[in-house]
Amino acid sequence: MLPDFHLHTGLCGHATGDVLDYVVVARSRGLTHVGFADHIPMYWLPPGRRDPELAMSEEELPGYVESVQKLKENYLDLTIRLGIEADYIPGFENQLRALLSRYPFDYVLGSVHYLGTWGFDNPDQVEEYGRRDIDELYRQYFSLVQQAALAGLFDVIAHPDLIKKFGYRARMDLLEVYEETARAFAEGGVCVEVNTAGLRVPAGEIYPALDFLKLCRRYQVPVTVGSDAHQPHLVAYGWDRVREWLLAAGYNAVVVFRERQKELINIL
Ligand SMILES: [Zn+2]
Ligand SMILES: [Zn+2]
Repeated sequence: MLPDFHLHTGLCGHATGDVLDYVVVARSRGLTHVGFADHIPMYWLPPGRRDPELAMSEEELPGYVESVQKLKENYLDLTIRLGIEADYIPGFENQLRALLSRYPFDYVLGSVHYLGTWGFDNPDQVEEYGRRDIDELYRQYFSLVQQAALAGLFDVIAHPDLIKKFGYRARMDLLEVYEETARAFAEGGVCVEVNTAGLRVPAGEIYPALDFLKLCRRYQVPVTVGSDAHQPHLVAYGWDRVREWLLAAGYNAVVVFRERQKELINIL
């Protein structure tokens, strides 16, 4: 069974369930490893402008860490890891580094959810796609993803082609951009995340596209797997499909983390 290293909790304000609810489902589905990666507080905004429906507050972060740590100690039927999903916001690297250093995370997922102030994966802001040049948008997005990979902050780049979420597809051929990005992942020493949330949105496809994942494989970028579950029943969502995706790209092992160190799990 593949590990699921991208689980949210009700703390982020747009998911349901607590850590135990997710672990119980994981166990019932035969998983042996899970990792929580709830949304980091919106550290780049002044506290008064942080949206409680997008991420936990900074006051809630110690409680999140403690709830995962407690579960680690008390729930011995499977291996549980403490992660966090951290937005990459250029110019705020030092603030993020300081925040991350205060907690014993096993791993940090790096995510690009914003282009400037536009939350391009937010259903409430989807009309902005119609105002943009789509190819230019894809170029901007991937350039930011590459910058995130090279920032020295993250262990994994999550949902690395999230820009396709609402089904607005680039007109240009993306192979060159994919290759540049795969090369940046290798150079930055990050893993690529294969994430099944793309199957549940208009994109209708796992993140990242298979051509992109194949290039990651060619550049020897290690891979992690996540459902991005925001509800307990979504743990290990699409696990048959993700396995096929990994094998089609040539991967035979996936990464799990402990204290920011990689361990490989064979999937053949
Ligand atoms: Zn995300
Ligand atoms: Zn997520």
